[in-house]
Amino acid sequence: MNESARIVTFKMDGREIGAREDETILQVATDNGIFIPTLCYLEGLSAMGGCRLCMVEVKETSKLVPSCVTYAREGMEVITNSERLAKYRIMLLELFFAERNHICAICVANGRCELQNLTVNLGMTHVHFPYFYPRVPVDASHERFVLDHNRCILCTRCVRVCAEIEGAHTLDVMTRGMDSRIITDLNQAWGSSVTCTRCGKCVNVCPTGALSEKGKAVADIAVKKQFLPYLTRMRRGKQ
Ligand code: SF4
Ligand code: SF4
Repeated sequence: MNESARIVTFKMDGREIGAREDETILQVATDNGIFIPTLCYLEGLSAMGGCRLCMVEVKETSKLVPSCVTYAREGMEVITNSERLAKYRIMLLELFFAERNHICAICVANGRCELQNLTVNLGMTHVHFPYFYPRVPVDASHERFVLDHNRCILCTRCVRVCAEIEGAHTLDVMTRGMDSRIITDLNQAWGSSVTCTRCGKCVNVCPTGALSEKGKAVADIAVKKQFLPYLTRMRRGKQ
């Protein structure tokens, strides 16, 4: 946070709002009780603007902008909820469901999954795209954790927490587009990784059932991402 950042005023959903110029639209919305859906964003990790669910309208441009990486500017007019945004967000959710196998009834995260919760809250009822369902493996080689690529939405929260908070850099993304996969070390079995500290941070921040802990109740995993803002503040020497 930049202590000398200027204060800017702008409109959000018709309300006059004051914010620091180094705050993103998403941060300002959250501070003002305005809900913007997100999946790849997680407070305490760097923002990547990858999932596009947090797109908002800005009056000066016809393009939608990702609110997690767009900063507040003097005089801007932001709309966080509209018919256009609602349709767009549902389409994005449908694409997640079309790309890999998200059959909630047989998923370890059923009932605590952020993707599942958003489909309910945003009103997604059908998938209007052909299902791809690629044949992707499950890596259960780690003595404590499981990585099921079928449930992965490539939000990279696990990659970022492993690099930015744990400092292990065990996880990464391999290839591009539909063939993208989360890998451990040099694309080897997770169980043979020499860099993994077995801290479990990646499992705690995963929004779906892609990462899970062997023999642990799913409900125990759900609340633990709260450690992130705390660790980030401590690392910067602020409490
Ligand atoms: S358990 Fe910790 S070190 Fe291992 S991959 Fe996950 S976050 Fe990285
Ligand atoms: S394994 Fe989980 S946290 Fe990692 S990219 Fe996939 S969905 Fe996101």
